[in-house]
Amino acid sequence: MKILFATPECAPHVKTGGLGDVSAALPPVLARLGHQVRILMPNYSAMKVAGDVVASHDVLAQDQWPAAQLIEIDAGNGVPLLLLDCPSLYHRDGSPYVGADGADHPDNAIRFGFLSQVAARLGTRASPLPHWRADIVHANDWPLGMTPLYLMQARLADPGGTVAASVMTIHNLAFQGLFPMASADLLAVPWHQRGIDGVEFWGQLSMLKAGLQFADAITTVSPTYAREIQTGAAGVGLDGMLRARADRLSGILNGIDGAVWNPATDQLLPHRYGAQSLALKRLNKTALQARCGLQPRAEAMVFGVVSRLTAQKGIDLVLAALPALLAQGGQLAVLGQGAPALQQALLDAVARYPGTVAVSVDFDESLAHLIEAGADCFLMPSRFEPCGLNQMYSQAYGTPPLVNATGGLVDSVVDSTEASDGTGFVMPSADAAGFADALDRARAAFADRPRWQRIQANGMASRFGWDSSAARYVAVYGEALIRAGQPG
Ligand code: ADP
Repeated sequence: MKILFATPECAPHVKTGGLGDVSAALPPVLARLGHQVRILMPNYSAMKVAGDVVASHDVLAQDQWPAAQLIEIDAGNGVPLLLLDCPSLYHRDGSPYVGADGADHPDNAIRFGFLSQVAARLGTRASPLPHWRADIVHANDWPLGMTPLYLMQARLADPGGTVAASVMTIHNLAFQGLFPMASADLLAVPWHQRGIDGVEFWGQLSMLKAGLQFADAITTVSPTYAREIQTGAAGVGLDGMLRARADRLSGILNGIDGAVWNPATDQLLPHRYGAQSLALKRLNKTALQARCGLQPRAEAMVFGVVSRLTAQKGIDLVLAALPALLAQGGQLAVLGQGAPALQQALLDAVARYPGTVAVSVDFDESLAHLIEAGADCFLMPSRFEPCGLNQMYSQAYGTPPLVNATGGLVDSVVDSTEASDGTGFVMPSADAAGFADALDRARAAFADRPRWQRIQANGMASRFGWDSSAARYVAVYGEALIRAGQPG
């Protein structure tokens, strides 16, 4: 199959969260399975892309859409990168989504509408690439939400032609890409698709809803989250629609990229180690304490957090549990950025507990790796979590995670109970009492060295590779082709 993986972010070029990691890891595995895969993303100004420019293709102006270039890069991994070059839309300060002031870029509707439109065009006769058009356009999250709608329009306009099937992946249903309905003109949404059976969501235009409405197949990033988003509690207003599309919705757990997240080969660690050399992990703990300004106490139980600082991630539960975390000589190392109030509350904790709590308000890849390796226990009490990657990284690094029982955390962490050792500690409820319960069990296990080492070993032996998940995506692509009337 010819597969276009269309995404707003891809590590290491640009990454704000888990989607960046998935965009880097899944396409090469699909290519190794024998498919022709291309990645499409914007050419952001802040990006440093390693690789040779192979060609540049014209994207012709069409209706209200501007002219642009597709810069084709050989990234050296069997998956050419197509950078959509349109400086007026993508050369900005800040992240792909927000400016340096933290506010959304004011023209996000057209920035990502255009990306979606070019993604769709690559799946039609009007593909800007010579000799290549996609059979499958795999659209990721709300920034690519308009793609399935555009492909559907292309299919209606060209019933005899071969138009790609669309697959829409929800990496986080909470981000929906909501814009004033007035943007519908800008985005060329036909009148009959502006209602509740189209893109409308409580009076606004929802890009994610457009994707869910018109995609040939829908996936999300864990089986548990696939079930949760069909309920009122986690469906963010789209649960009814997702229930109605349950036949085309599947949950496929993300994997981790063993080339990047492996403690035995991790070039960002001062000391590499494996399951047979866990003593070296302790050297990373010492390095972490030194780097963060934590007291150099070898016996301290060091808790680590690497996270976007938002209500989703349950950081308030960590803050509320601080006295308990730090009792008995515990330490806390946090790396994250996000909501100003949470940043401030964490910095206040540093002032209150100097040498015991360390916080870096930053986005720092090497510190993220060092926390995964140097901490004893990783905290991830998310209120909801579509998949989550850090709890998998921490297991691979021998750092048992403490997690809430939600989404992909349920699907990737085995609770350690008195009856069995497991790979981490799962909160029985998403509140302070649930956190305290899991913390007590984690601390008791840490005090029992042989038991802790068994839990570490279980996590390190868990296989979170991409192979089986990539095979499941291939099966979903096949189903999408059949629904689109193209049995391959
Ligand atoms: P989400 O996508 O919801 O942010 P995930 O756990 O799926 O959460 O993925 C987060 C990814 O982003 C992980 O690779 C994590 O290490 C990384 N990350 C998050 N915050 C930071 C940060 N401040 N510095 C470095 N890496 C970060």
